[in-house]
Amino acid sequence: MESSDGQYIVDVRGLTVEYRTVYGNLKALNTIDFKIKKGESVAIVGESGSGKSTLGLSIVRLLAPNAMYVSGSLILDGKDVTKLSTREIAAMRGSTAFMIFQDPLNTLNPVKRVDVQMLEAIRSRNKYESKPFNEEEAYAEAVQKMKDVRMPDAESIITRYPHMLSGGQIQRVVIAMGLVMRPKLLIADEPTSALDVTIQAQVLDLMRELQTKYQMSIMFITHDINIAHNISERMVVMYAGEISESSPTEKIVKNALHPYSQALIASIPTITKTQGKLNAIAGSAPNMFSPPDGCRFHPRCPHVMQVCSNRSPKQVTQDGSEVRCFLYG
Ligand code: SF4
Repeated sequence: MESSDGQYIVDVRGLTVEYRTVYGNLKALNTIDFKIKKGESVAIVGESGSGKSTLGLSIVRLLAPNAMYVSGSLILDGKDVTKLSTREIAAMRGSTAFMIFQDPLNTLNPVKRVDVQMLEAIRSRNKYESKPFNEEEAYAEAVQKMKDVRMPDAESIITRYPHMLSGGQIQRVVIAMGLVMRPKLLIADEPTSALDVTIQAQVLDLMRELQTKYQMSIMFITHDINIAHNISERMVVMYAGEISESSPTEKIVKNALHPYSQALIASIPTITKTQGKLNAIAGSAPNMFSPPDGCRFHPRCPHVMQVCSNRSPKQVTQDGSEVRCFLYG
């Protein structure tokens, strides 16, 4: 197995992923270089179809059967997940990286009570860690994890079926389930977008608190810049299957470098403190079966130059940010 620098929980290099379809190959990710430090919270932002969910699913190897890893390496906690056996990657899911989806019922079984599912998770974790399983101790741990996610009336809620719970309660159960597995990395794909604003804020607070308490890394995938600003230390902006900019969050909010990041930030009045109408980004998202040559953002870029349609810009480091644009470096 390959290993990467020990300070990173995720180390992706040159990752290219495509989906085979009847219309041809959809080019979801193109030569992605991306790292997450141990204990770091990173938000992945971009429009629908930018590749951010594919990146999250790639890390835990949960891509759809028609997906192909075309090239590159993807190191999770020192192991290249593209080379692991099905059994090895299944063991890493949960214990190393736990993924939360927008629809929590992708994680929970609707026909089993919450306590039954949590006990199953503890049993499989203990088996993975070669530890004995004691049902009484496991039940106490499951209830404690429900309390850790600030579930009111945890002893009662844990005995219910998922369909008896509200959206916010279900998402808390899923996070509690994640905590049982003691993952080093929590990947959350739009986990709050189906929740109302108050519950959304509570879940985000909770995730921040748990990140500190359990010293987990968090990869938070969202199309919502406000949420990304709220939850992350670093923001990674994706456009058309590529990373256009990666910067400390406060820096990108105050001084985004890439024209696409600038347009995204400018479109959010609560961040920019501007009044009045949103600045919509001109043009439409590219066709990912045949993305534009050169810089993929060039058909929509207000700063486009002749070189932009001919050559693809390389990622360069500028003032502590990494940016893929001919205006820099
Ligand atoms: Fe715009 Fe050119 Fe930079 Fe692409 S490389 S974002 S088209 S200036």
